[in-house]
Amino acid sequence: MISVEEALERVLSYIKVLDSVETPILECLGQVLAEDIYSPINIPPKDNSAMDGYAVKAADIVGASASSPVYLDIIGEAKAGGVSNLAVKAHKTIRIMTGAPLPKGADAVVPFEETDETQRKDQPLKQIGILKAVEKGRNIRSAGEDIAKGQMAIQKGTVLRPAQVGVLASLGMGKVKVIRRPVVAILATGDELVALGQPLSEGQIYNSNSYSAAAQVLRYGGIPKVLGIARDTEKDLTKKIREALSADMLLTTGGVSMGDYDLVKDVLAKQGEISFWKVRMKPGKPLAFGTIKGVPHLGLPGNPVSSMITFELFARPAMLKMMGKTNLIRPTVDVIMESVARNSDGRRVFLRAIVRREGDRLYAKTTGPQGSGILTSMSMANALVVVPETVSVIKAGDKLKAIMLDDEQ
Ligand code: AMP
Ligand code: MG
Repeated sequence: MISVEEALERVLSYIKVLDSVETPILECLGQVLAEDIYSPINIPPKDNSAMDGYAVKAADIVGASASSPVYLDIIGEAKAGGVSNLAVKAHKTIRIMTGAPLPKGADAVVPFEETDETQRKDQPLKQIGILKAVEKGRNIRSAGEDIAKGQMAIQKGTVLRPAQVGVLASLGMGKVKVIRRPVVAILATGDELVALGQPLSEGQIYNSNSYSAAAQVLRYGGIPKVLGIARDTEKDLTKKIREALSADMLLTTGGVSMGDYDLVKDVLAKQGEISFWKVRMKPGKPLAFGTIKGVPHLGLPGNPVSSMITFELFARPAMLKMMGKTNLIRPTVDVIMESVARNSDGRRVFLRAIVRREGDRLYAKTTGPQGSGILTSMSMANALVVVPETVSVIKAGDKLKAIMLDDEQ
C-alpha cells in the first residue's frame, strides 16, 4: 500500500495542463489566464476630477480661507461623459462633476464643501467663494494613473477573480484566452444502484455518488459528464467506460474493493494500465488509479464518504493541475481536538469535523459516527482532521492539523 503523498504524486505525473480557449470574461471566473494582457488604452483616459467641485488654477486661490474667501467667476459646467471646450483662465472657474475631464487651464479641483456654494442664495451663481487653498494637482486623477497604455495589466498564469474580470472590462475586453475547464466523466457502478426518480425495490439504494462527485467537479471549476450507472458485469463496465474516453478524466465509483463483483480494477487492468490500487488511508483505502487509452481514470471507492474524500485529495488536485493552477493542495490549520478517536491500523485517518474559532485558537469536534457509509458525517463537516499514520489514540486536547473544506479553491 502506498502513502497518500506517493499516490498523489503518481496521479499528478499523468496529468497535463489543458489547451486554452477564448472565453467571455464572465465565464472565466476561477480560470487561469493563458496570455499576457497589455492595455490598449490609458485608464483613466484623461485627467479628470476626483470630486464634485470647482476646477481652478491653484495659483489663483493661494491664501483663501473661510474668513477671507477668494471669489472666482463661474464660466461653465463640466460633467462626466462630456468634453468641454471651455478653458479656465485666471480668476475663472468651471463647476465640475466627479469623473468629468479636467478643463484646459485648470490644475486643481476645490470640492463643494470648501466653497460657499451651499450658503449662497443668488441662483444661478455667477461667482463662487473659495474657502480653502488647494495645491496644484489636488483632487485630480491623472490620465493612465491606474493603467498606462501599453503597460501589462494582468500577467499570464493569473487566476481570474472578480477584480481581474473588472480590470478586463475596464480595458474594453469582453473575451480573453484562458485554460479550458476539464470535462470529467462520472460513472457509478453497482447492481444495487437506482437512478433518481425511480422507485426503490428491496435491497436497492439511490445513486448518490454521481451527484456528490458531479457537485465537486462543478465546485472546482470543471464540467461534469454524468454517465449514469454501470452494472457489475465486465461487459457493461467496458461499454460505459468507452463513453468516457472523450473526457479529460474518468471517475468511477465503487467496484474497487475485495468483493466478488468489484470489477473496476480488472476492467482497468484489461482496457488500460493500473498505476496503483490501495492507499494507506482511511476512509478511501481501495482507491485505484490508471489510464485507459490515455485518459486518467480514478477508481473512487463506493462508500459515499470514501468517494468524496478521495475526490478531495486526488481528483481535485488533478483537475486544478489540468486548469493550469499551481496551488494544488489545500493549506492545513492547527486545531485542538475536542473529540476522541482511534487509529487502529497505521493508516492516515481523515476525520470529518466541525472546526470553530474561539479567540485565536481553532477547536475541532468530529461529526458523530465516522463510518465511511455515513454521508451525513461529511455533510455536517467543514474540515477533515488529519490523524497521522503513527498516531493511534487521539485524546481531547491533542493538537492536529485540519484541511478546511469551505473555501472554493
Ligand atoms: P463497492 O465498493 O462497490 O462494494 O461499494 C461500497 C459501498 O458503497 C456499498 O455499500 C455500496 O452500496 C455503496 N455505493 C457504491 N456506489 C454507490 C453510489 N453510487 N451511491 C451510493 N452508494 C454507493
Ligand atoms: Mg459495488
